[in-house]
Amino acid sequence: MYDYLIVGAGLFGAVFAQQMTQAGKKCLVIDRRRHIAGNIYSKEMEGIHVHMYGPHVFHTNNREVWNYVNRFTEFNRFTLGTIANYKGEIYSLPFNMYTFNKMGGVTMPEQAEEKISMQRREAGITEVTNLEEQAISLVGTDIYEKLIKGYTEKQWGRDCRELPAFIIRRLPVRLTYDNNYFNALYQGIPVNGYTRMVENMLDGIEVRLGVDYLENRAELDALAEHVLYTGAIDAYFDCCYGALEYRRVRFETETLEQSNFQGNAIVNYTDREIPYTRIIEHKWFQFGKDGRGNDLPGTVVTREYPCEWKPGEEPYYPVNDERNNQLYARYRELADREEKTIFGGRLGHYKYYDMDQVIAAALECGRAELGR
Ligand code: UDP
Repeated sequence: MYDYLIVGAGLFGAVFAQQMTQAGKKCLVIDRRRHIAGNIYSKEMEGIHVHMYGPHVFHTNNREVWNYVNRFTEFNRFTLGTIANYKGEIYSLPFNMYTFNKMGGVTMPEQAEEKISMQRREAGITEVTNLEEQAISLVGTDIYEKLIKGYTEKQWGRDCRELPAFIIRRLPVRLTYDNNYFNALYQGIPVNGYTRMVENMLDGIEVRLGVDYLENRAELDALAEHVLYTGAIDAYFDCCYGALEYRRVRFETETLEQSNFQGNAIVNYTDREIPYTRIIEHKWFQFGKDGRGNDLPGTVVTREYPCEWKPGEEPYYPVNDERNNQLYARYRELADREEKTIFGGRLGHYKYYDMDQVIAAALECGRAELGR
């Protein structure tokens, strides 16, 4: 008999399990997949930690979260600066003075500001109700057309006018020359990979892999007093109100016999015609560009092809538009009435969480459980 059955060995499940175990509770962690770490799972290929489910760069302003993760791994000093390739033209991301300079020749922040306001006025935007209006208001029409529209429509499979504005606000807009992708005090990549970090969190905790909770629910529920469920919330309730929508990503990974393929960890392909959204060159997350990365003879690159999720596949991104959020709210009501089970994580909360938000939520959830 366990105090907690934890469904999902991803970040939320691992942090929760760690906290509960530390407090003297007996936990069993299960996962449908044959590995731990959920979608932050990394695997070593050619001496390089490959991010098997898309690039993950740890960043946070939350000191408690930063101190917490540092108990389980050391971080390198990686800072993400993404490059956008639009039909062979290279732009800096996130949107900053380097981007504004390359796009419109402006050199001073005031000129950039003027240009953005003019394009916002020309587009007739007075109120922001969707991603397109938000994007034009923040960076102007030129940048929207070349760096946002195509990428976003590929990524989400929806028109920018049908998407919520918050998605584009994930990216900073700066009137300074600064290519740091995040406004975060703490940033880095675990030096031994994300999988090792999660393994350390789960140290001494029983983990069973290849176990599908939803297919063996009665039997598994009987093992524990409480359940933490981090899978998709709609699937938990047999999609009784209809299915929530998710975006999935298909990855094409290859090893190349060259030391440097694209000179950066992430290059986004922002035009509509190229079917993938970005190419990841994994070694640059792990090694500094002036260090061991150059000495490795090979490199591993991944192309990301976003697509709509279908049952039986791995979901990656919740589609937090109004229709899906309303549907989620109905599932949330059912979830709140469950006595034995609590819900967590990107899929359990149907929220576009970053890793630090997942950890903060899991720590909070652990505290709430222990206080009850
Ligand atoms: N985005 C864009 N162009 C880019 C990069 C991002 O339009 O070159 C938009 C796009 O809508 C994307 C969102 O910004 O879904 C958030 O980007 P982020 O890099 O945070 O996405 P993630 O790494 O979580 O997939």
